[in-house]
Amino acid sequence: MPETVFITGVSGYIALNVALQLSEKGYHIVGTVRTKDKGEYLVRQLGADKFSYEIVTDLDKENCFDEALAAHPEVTVVLHIASPCFFTTTDAERDILKPAIEGTKNILSGILRKAPQVRRVVHTSSDSAIMSFKEEHVPTKTFDETTWNENTYEDSLVSPFEAYYGSKALGEKYAWKFVKENPVNFTLATICPSYVFGPQPFDEPFGGKSFVNASNEEILGLLSLKSEEEFEDLTGGYIYCRDIARAHIEAFERDDLVGKRLLVTNGSFGSQYILDLIHKMFPQLASSVIKGPNPGQGKEVMASKLAKVDNSRTRKLLTWGFKDLEDIVKETVQQFLNNTQSS
Ligand code: NDP
Repeated sequence: MPETVFITGVSGYIALNVALQLSEKGYHIVGTVRTKDKGEYLVRQLGADKFSYEIVTDLDKENCFDEALAAHPEVTVVLHIASPCFFTTTDAERDILKPAIEGTKNILSGILRKAPQVRRVVHTSSDSAIMSFKEEHVPTKTFDETTWNENTYEDSLVSPFEAYYGSKALGEKYAWKFVKENPVNFTLATICPSYVFGPQPFDEPFGGKSFVNASNEEILGLLSLKSEEEFEDLTGGYIYCRDIARAHIEAFERDDLVGKRLLVTNGSFGSQYILDLIHKMFPQLASSVIKGPNPGQGKEVMASKLAKVDNSRTRKLLTWGFKDLEDIVKETVQQFLNNTQSS
């Protein structure tokens, strides 16, 4: 019998990629969603024989996962992926920080209370748990699987960006502490991805064809900038959506990944560099897409702005070879063009 995997926030971008790969591999999936519509959409996409859902509306509602876990004694693996992943809010503590931390508490305590049969938990963290937003942009610094964003709860209240970074660091720290201090039957692995890019897993996403999650907006948002003045050069690390999905799956399939913190990234991106790639690969967009302030210089600009990241430990463990940025940008923009041209 294939194992049954419980995924929190299964309607999200990364979770959908994971669910799709799991279903291709023959696993059964129980996912939490916030609305029936999203659950039914996924039943249609993945098939009722492979997928069922439970509704969990608010990560920060006490014991929010208990009922869903208790209803599925067949679940042996939990992937905790749900967490606010956006930067636009006027109350970052309420909308980002608290749900992320409380959601982690609720899933782990829920497993302890209601699902003692669970053997492995994979917690989706972020490279924001490895380095703070400020540190990420200090070129003399180096970060790896052993480093932490040490910002406190209070440090995280200064902006939505800091709140997101803090939410991931504090959530992951909580998870490791919980496992150490409680009589759990499961082992833990955490995944720390950099920005995850790549096409939406289904051509018909929720909420209409214009829906794009926050990380892909960093690519696709560039297509609709009206003038050079609107351009902001965001820089960071990147990884392909199907590579991050595979990392989640190996993290529970492989015993040698127990207790590991995987920093899953394949290098750096910058908005100028992405614009350079778009112009190289999509000449038909030359007149409609801005060139940016440093056309053709994106690679150099990006390198001068970022700290170094050494994920050699993770690369020794995840050996299949991650997809590079050029191919990712090509796939992502192509899907967007196909969808907008056909609508
Ligand atoms: P999405 O926004 O696509 O998905 C987030 C999921 O969490 C959705 O299912 C969402 O439900 C659910 N969710 C968010 N807030 C709440 C809440 N308060 N209560 C209940 N459910 C909630 O994000 P991604 O797929 O991009 O990210 C998934 C995970 O990966 C997050 O933990 C994120 O921090 C992490 N990550 C993402 C990166 C990226 O580049 N995308 C990089 C590094 C880490 P709904 O859609 O219905 O609101």
